[in-house]
Amino acid sequence: MKLFNSLTREVGEFVPLKKGKVGMYTCGPTVYDYVHVGNFRTYMTADLLVRLLRYNGYEVKYVMNITDVGHLTGDNLGDADLGRDRIEESARKMGKTAHEIAGFYTRQFLDDLDSLGLQRPDVLCKATDHIAEQIELVKKLEEKGFAYRISDGIYFDTRKFPRYGELSTLRETAGAARVEVNPEKRNPKDFALWKFSPKNEKRQMEWDSPWGVGFPGWHIECSAMSMKYLGESFDIHAGGEDLQSTHHPNEIAQSEAVTAKPFVRYWVHGAFLLVDGGRMSKSLGNNYTVTDLDGKGFGPMALRYLYLTANYRTPLNFTWSSLAAAQSAYDKLAEFVRSRRAGEQESRRELSKEKLKKIDQFRTRFLEAVNNDLNFPQGLAVVWEMVKSNIPDMDKADLILDWDQILGLGLANAQEGVKVPDVVTKLVGERESLRKAGKFVEGDKARMQIEALGFIVKDTPTGPIINVKRS
Ligand code: AMP
Ligand code: ZN
Repeated sequence: MKLFNSLTREVGEFVPLKKGKVGMYTCGPTVYDYVHVGNFRTYMTADLLVRLLRYNGYEVKYVMNITDVGHLTGDNLGDADLGRDRIEESARKMGKTAHEIAGFYTRQFLDDLDSLGLQRPDVLCKATDHIAEQIELVKKLEEKGFAYRISDGIYFDTRKFPRYGELSTLRETAGAARVEVNPEKRNPKDFALWKFSPKNEKRQMEWDSPWGVGFPGWHIECSAMSMKYLGESFDIHAGGEDLQSTHHPNEIAQSEAVTAKPFVRYWVHGAFLLVDGGRMSKSLGNNYTVTDLDGKGFGPMALRYLYLTANYRTPLNFTWSSLAAAQSAYDKLAEFVRSRRAGEQESRRELSKEKLKKIDQFRTRFLEAVNNDLNFPQGLAVVWEMVKSNIPDMDKADLILDWDQILGLGLANAQEGVKVPDVVTKLVGERESLRKAGKFVEGDKARMQIEALGFIVKDTPTGPIINVKRS
């Protein structure tokens, strides 16, 4: 299979360190708020890669971290020193403990992960469970002369690591400039390895260390945990494109400064999910969650399908109409599989050579597409071409279910795709009673109310079916 590597900036053949085995790490969420559908696009890319590797016969060890301490406001833009801890900040606002906040949002994250059909990582590791490993790494960096102390913490000296920033692109320099730089640092790009607790303020989460009471810098957790679970050199490291300029170069610097070995072979960065062409952000009120989508009648698989329609390295603009189109396409596919499975007893006919050849060609074309740097839009095009082709329906369903091991749309168990609010179900019941009593005018009024709520009701011999109204 072929993969784009942000380090070499090329698409190349994927070759793991150990034959048949893959170690992969993805930077997970900071659990101070709900994880939005933008973040999930990044986890989706990682999930597709893991599924594909497994389908191709690799034994994959998949590790994801949960950041439950140390991620400061401003960290993503380059400076780790002057922001506030996101978890502690959220705890203060909500009147909860930092531990409660992290636990609550981790559970929410896992619920959404499951409903989106994202595979659970083999190791899901929390930063606060690995403080000793992080301290150990900082100690080694200090011994090797890469760390120095200033008044608020221990910092990494990026000048001492000549290859610093190889991975980063220059695009984000303007962003970094927006952040105030701590004047005590030797170089603007230096970053915190260990931060001291403020003297005038008691932090909820703090630990003893050889340098004083404090907490780890955000970047060190990923170096410490990825190397603990995958070894000093491993195959794939994934994350969103914003991490390419600071967080990931910092991970490389910290890790390679200690081990003197290449840290990661393939860096995979997913492009952002945009809203109206811009960033998803809380202040704009457009950072939708899986629950928000559900509230509007869209199932999580509609979102999964939407993600599949764009290449992971291309920004994807989120709109309600594109989500509705994705829901509709997903429903059609699910319905196709359902109806074929219902007729499973139908006996198989001998297939002509020509049809067997066609089936093989579809199989090859689908796998070629997705194995070519995860080209899922092309993969989906093959799916639909195959569904519309003249090969037997049973074979179509077999192919879809085989490919669904990679697509992850859960088509083998797909229920009617739509989640219907209680108020709509109630109205549908009332309409039925009215119609049975011959009160068709009143029944029609109920139908209009149902439509006003965004649903349509269809009458079938076995009773009414409710669907999302699409205009
Ligand atoms: P955070 O919780 O901010 O550390 O982000 C978790 C992950 O989501 C990181 O890999 C980010 O790069 C990624 N991410 C953040 N916003 C978006 C977005 N709008 N689209 C895709 N990925 C995102
Ligand atoms: Zn990370």
